[in-house]
Amino acid sequence: SRCTRIGGFAVPTIHELHKKLVNKEISAVELTKAVIAHKEQVEPQVGAYLSDSHEEALAKAQAVDDKIAAGQEVSMLAGIPGAIKDNICIEGQKATCASKMLENFVPPYSATVIEKLKDQDFVSLGKLNMDEFAMGGSTENSALGKTTNPWNKDYVPGGSSGGSAASVSAGSAIWSLGSDTGGSIRQPASFCGVVGMKPTYGNVSRYGLIAFASSLDQIGPVTRDVRDVAIVLNAITGHDDKDSTSIPGERPDYTKALINDVKNLRIGVPKEFYGDGLNPEVRKAMEEAIDTYKKLGAQIVEVSLPSTKYALSAYYIVALAEASSNLARYDGVSYGLRVPADNLVDMSTKTRSQGFGKEVQRRILLGTYVLRSGYYDAYYKKALQVRRVIKNEFDQAFQEVDLLLTPTAPNTSYKFGEKANDPLAMYLEDICTVPVNLAGIPGISIPAGMSSAGLPIGMQLLGPAMGEEVLLRAAYTFEQERPDCKIVAPTGEALL
Ligand code: GLN
Repeated sequence: SRCTRIGGFAVPTIHELHKKLVNKEISAVELTKAVIAHKEQVEPQVGAYLSDSHEEALAKAQAVDDKIAAGQEVSMLAGIPGAIKDNICIEGQKATCASKMLENFVPPYSATVIEKLKDQDFVSLGKLNMDEFAMGGSTENSALGKTTNPWNKDYVPGGSSGGSAASVSAGSAIWSLGSDTGGSIRQPASFCGVVGMKPTYGNVSRYGLIAFASSLDQIGPVTRDVRDVAIVLNAITGHDDKDSTSIPGERPDYTKALINDVKNLRIGVPKEFYGDGLNPEVRKAMEEAIDTYKKLGAQIVEVSLPSTKYALSAYYIVALAEASSNLARYDGVSYGLRVPADNLVDMSTKTRSQGFGKEVQRRILLGTYVLRSGYYDAYYKKALQVRRVIKNEFDQAFQEVDLLLTPTAPNTSYKFGEKANDPLAMYLEDICTVPVNLAGIPGISIPAGMSSAGLPIGMQLLGPAMGEEVLLRAAYTFEQERPDCKIVAPTGEALL
């Protein structure tokens, strides 16, 4: 079946706009003004942003126009308006993590990814909504705003990078950065019909990303097509001395991997990702994707990752243990909120009780529990052992195949409130994405169709560590071959 398009119009990509800029068909200031105008039109419904930086954006756009007028070469990203998840620090701009705890926190420094983007003359329209401290899968855990799915306002945008996906989907940003600890880039990208990549753990610096679970967190791009993912990844990748888990060595030019050819590529289909819980329409879209690759000469291989069934349990122990430790710093002394009290302990207790939302408090409690000396071996250590087994199974699979094809999520987006009061139901939706973070490998989600209810379906491609290039190649080929799956912005009027 063909993927249906609803409403909408085509919002341009980074690479299309770059051409227009250097050919002087449009100026960066005009472009930035146009995206701001469109953003103002759609934001009342979509609510992707927590704060704006329009003035700064226009000043930066002007600087790009000056460079172009002076005949200087500009980068692919120069002057193209994007936006940044609100857990990534930009010096002098609020970074709230969508939490009351950090509602007024202004970081005194910028993340490494932001410094790198500055070198590219990037333009940012503001900071994007998310689940509080990136904990969640629907952005309903934000303490500071509500973001809706641009395809249907009754449905969640996914999470935790809900603002990152919704803004790009709605055309209120041409590209964005998100963060992914257990699927938070890929799952909202799939719910909103855009492209999102979680790079290999250590490929992109985490310096200046407010920590959730440090051994799982990665920053990555959300864009309108696969070429744009490569462009943004090129800008943010690289070794960083300020991140001790950063992978050393040179990085390739990821746009060189955009080759429209999958002949003889071995694509693994791990059967554990296609179990009974998979939504039939998602299954059908995956089968069509597999057929597309087959037709193009790829070799489809059934593989097994038997420990996938333990991934959720292991993830929710490791992630929460790390979170409980990382969030211990919010004691009312050094950062953010302080609720006054007569003594230090009361001050800290009141601050943490009022500053953290329900889900964050639940996770701190669970994380602290699994780290208690009496339970450490039974829970935390066991989870680390399972994590190693999961990683080994992926390594083994990549001996046989070049990449893996799975759904990004077992279902399409769901309605507000449907899972918000049932944390376990929400956690279960992460089954396809969390094994990837546990293994540290890269994953990309690309649009693979629409459900009969008019909601996007995402397909996930996974590769070995530092195997981003093979993912980009396979994703790019799919996108070229299946224009029927191409995304359109569903909200508002034509952008340019
Ligand atoms: N939904 C997952 C969680 O709630 C993943 C979150 C993320 O990747 N930041 O932990």
